[in-house]
Amino acid sequence: MARLISRRKFLKLSGGVVGGVAVSELIAAGVDVSGVMAAAMAQKIKQGQEVPSICPYCAVGCGQIVTVSGGKVIDIQGNPDSPINEGTLCPKGAANYQLAVNSNRWTKAKYRAPNSDHWEDISLDDAMNKIAQKFQQTRDANFIETAQVAGKQKVVNHVLAIASLGGATIDDEWNYLHQKLLRAANVVSIENQARI
Ligand code: SF4
Repeated sequence: MARLISRRKFLKLSGGVVGGVAVSELIAAGVDVSGVMAAAMAQKIKQGQEVPSICPYCAVGCGQIVTVSGGKVIDIQGNPDSPINEGTLCPKGAANYQLAVNSNRWTKAKYRAPNSDHWEDISLDDAMNKIAQKFQQTRDANFIETAQVAGKQKVVNHVLAIASLGGATIDDEWNYLHQKLLRAANVVSIENQARI
């Protein structure tokens, strides 16, 4: 019969650094460490306000707990209360923290002016303004009010020169606004990997 062991005794026996070896030896010796393991796993290293969220990477929609401290994300883990993933995350979802907090994230855009032979860094605000201007120009130049449909001239009010491809990390709220913007601009070619 498996012997029960206290958390204090378990930590003393496992000795931190060689914990993995000690645990396997304890299990091999018939010691029931399940309760201690559960208690040890419940001890979070990073403490802060826990906010339930959803992994943005795919349509499975695994539940996550985002730990926030001082207005910053300090940890993201699977939510054990989620009936979808019960606390687990796939490797992609487990890397969500690096999606939110990453010193390698680009904070500028590369721009090559017409006829230039080199790229230059511009701010994201400047890049957004350029994109907005190009979008407006393309939309206005290609707006079609009527077209021949099944042999009849009909009102279509559409733009076929712009298309939108969305990614899985675009969440519900972003998709809602994205649809509103593109439909208002009469764009009809809108595609997305998930959640649309
Ligand atoms: S954790 Fe993995 S399976 Fe779950 S929603 Fe994220 S990407 Fe999809």
